[in-house]
Amino acid sequence: MHFAFSAEEEAFRQEFSDFLRKHATPAILQEAESGLGWGPHTWELVRKLGVRGWLTPTWPREYGGLGLDPVYRFIIHEELDYSGALPEGASMVGAGMVGPTLMLYGTEEQKDQYLLRIARGEIEFALGYTEPEAGSDLAGLEIWAQEAGDHYIMSGQKLYNTRCHYAHYHWLAARTESGKPKHRGISLFIVDLQSPGISIRPLWTLGGMRTNEVFYDNVSVPRQNLVGKKNRGFYYILAALEFERVFSVGGLRRMFEELAAYVRESPFLRSDPLTWQRLAQLHVEIEIARLFAYRLAWLQTSRTAATHEAAALKLFASELWQRLAASAAEILGLAAQLKGGAKGAPLGGKVERLCRECLVQTFAAGSSEIMRGIIATRGMRLPRDSGQV
Ligand SMILES: Cc1cc2nc3c(=O)[nH]c(=O)nc-3n(C[C@H](O)[C@H](O)[C@H](O)COP(=O)(O)OP(=O)(O)OC[C@H]3O[C@@H](n4cnc5c(N)ncnc54)[C@H](O)[C@@H]3O)c2cc1C
Repeated sequence: MHFAFSAEEEAFRQEFSDFLRKHATPAILQEAESGLGWGPHTWELVRKLGVRGWLTPTWPREYGGLGLDPVYRFIIHEELDYSGALPEGASMVGAGMVGPTLMLYGTEEQKDQYLLRIARGEIEFALGYTEPEAGSDLAGLEIWAQEAGDHYIMSGQKLYNTRCHYAHYHWLAARTESGKPKHRGISLFIVDLQSPGISIRPLWTLGGMRTNEVFYDNVSVPRQNLVGKKNRGFYYILAALEFERVFSVGGLRRMFEELAAYVRESPFLRSDPLTWQRLAQLHVEIEIARLFAYRLAWLQTSRTAATHEAAALKLFASELWQRLAASAAEILGLAAQLKGGAKGAPLGGKVERLCRECLVQTFAAGSSEIMRGIIATRGMRLPRDSGQV
């Protein structure tokens, strides 16, 4: 079997990586490392990508896309991930999830109002799913949206809603009916994050990234901001999660290459057999992850749902980040604990940061246990009602 990108795809990759070399400036990388989300320099890059149609390469031209195959979206993700220019990976909520969902279920008015602005990089959305009592089991969410004439009045709390402090809109899942089964009473809304009654409090992860608690206190949301049909939101969320499952291992590869280059330059480490063992093992695992990612990209060009294959990649790559961090810390020894800016910190303190940052990978966007559940039930056809831990 021969895996290869076509000549056109390779030419596109070259054009895109040349663009990033020129435009992913140190100021943008600094914003990415700050953990604060998109700052002014990142927004500028996002708009430049938008002008070229590179935020939404697979979208139809009428909505600001380029009408290309999903493999081009994958190439863009991989290069952005490798460059380290956009925090939270290259997965954007507006371009990656909201837009495709609106194209399927949104009103014409909603498509007119949001799609072109998303494609041009003028607006971004924050995912509003998780709550204190609803994470893996999202159907348990409780934030309440009460119909009141031509508005809904919303009250309740969200947790870990990451982009709310710099996004314009909340892609909010709220309860609109209290009956059973609980997943049938959920609706999806677009909420302006500047609406009176919304307050946003920062939560800092161990890795230094900002996420948020968001409180709704009698927030009034126009009825026309309901997405699709009332009480069908859970199904739209499942559809949108399919769109979210675009993963690359560009960032992993970049970190590993930097570690290997450091070892090659080190007079002691370069000839240490134990270091060779660790690096060789990582090399093999990163190649496996890369093949998983390429296969997933290929599957997504031939069919829309690749759920268990995406879960396998998410599971393997997120746990590999942690193995990479552990091996890098062992190879570099005590110096790996030095922070960026400290005298003598190897790799600019990246390993110290990585050891803190990598923890979140195995539960954000779905925990490893949930990924294994998807692989068992969707990939291996084991019955859903048994085997749940
Ligand atoms: C940094 C960060 C950013 C995030 N950003 C966002 C965001 O922008 N928007 C948003 O809506 N959410 C966001 N999340 C939330 C994230 O999706 C949830 O944390 C995740 O889905 C897990 O939910 P939970 O935290 O409630 O854990 P729980 O669901 O309570 O899980 C606790 C433990 O139980 C295990 N478990 C749960 N159910 C099962 C089961 N059926 N079988 C086996 N094991 C199980 C889990 O694997 C986990 O180990 C973010 C989270 C983090 C940490």
